[in-house]
Amino acid sequence: MTSGDDPFSKARQRMVDDQIASPFDSRPAVTDARVIEAMRMVQRHRFVDERYLDLAYSDRPLPIGHGQTISQPYIVAFMTELLEVSPDHIVLEIGTGSGYQAAILGELAKHVYTIEILEPLAKQAESKLEELGYENITVKAGDGYLGWPEHAPFDSIIVTAAPDHVPQPLIDQLKPGGRMVLPVGPVWSTQKLTLVTKKDDGTVDKEVVMAVGFVPLVRE
Ligand code: SAH
Repeated sequence: MTSGDDPFSKARQRMVDDQIASPFDSRPAVTDARVIEAMRMVQRHRFVDERYLDLAYSDRPLPIGHGQTISQPYIVAFMTELLEVSPDHIVLEIGTGSGYQAAILGELAKHVYTIEILEPLAKQAESKLEELGYENITVKAGDGYLGWPEHAPFDSIIVTAAPDHVPQPLIDQLKPGGRMVLPVGPVWSTQKLTLVTKKDDGTVDKEVVMAVGFVPLVRE
């Protein structure tokens, strides 16, 4: 939805080429062409605080206020790839934060529902996404642990704050055949990025994919 024609265009293409589309240190390259295209399109600098504009395309998370962060670009791309989003998919995100991950998903899915527990962040992300023209993203303030039953079931669910277990309401709201990606682990330690797949009989498989560091999922 956003164009490549901006002062940060070169920096963004370099971010994708160097950090995402090629292997770097021990991390695997992201190869899904649609995910890579979305990472090339969405202007991450529009989602970061003005103070950090120069770091908008660097290989790191950045503060977004209220003790929260916008995730590292690679992690956004990697988690998005794991979701295997198709153009007809309805996706749920828990932890809207800046709205950047939601925008990436908005490029790939039919509709994105995203929940943020801190009301000021939810409001800010909502107006940012509106300003950028995303009509297929709906933001609400609330406790994402409970999911969004009114819009369930979801083809995929992404959680960008870490609970210490996989929330059962989110498993319940995942379609059979659906995929959920989330960091799971104790507060303020590294967590296990986990891929949960729901089978047709309603049971789930869990696969630990890599170690990650997210802010904790908090409850209302
Ligand atoms: N996806 C974000 C990164 C978010 S950081 C981005 O692209 O910028 C994680 C966010 O999860 C924080 O904003 C935090 O306030 C939020 N969060 C924590 N617990 C939550 C909960 N129970 N429900 C919804 N959001 C939650």
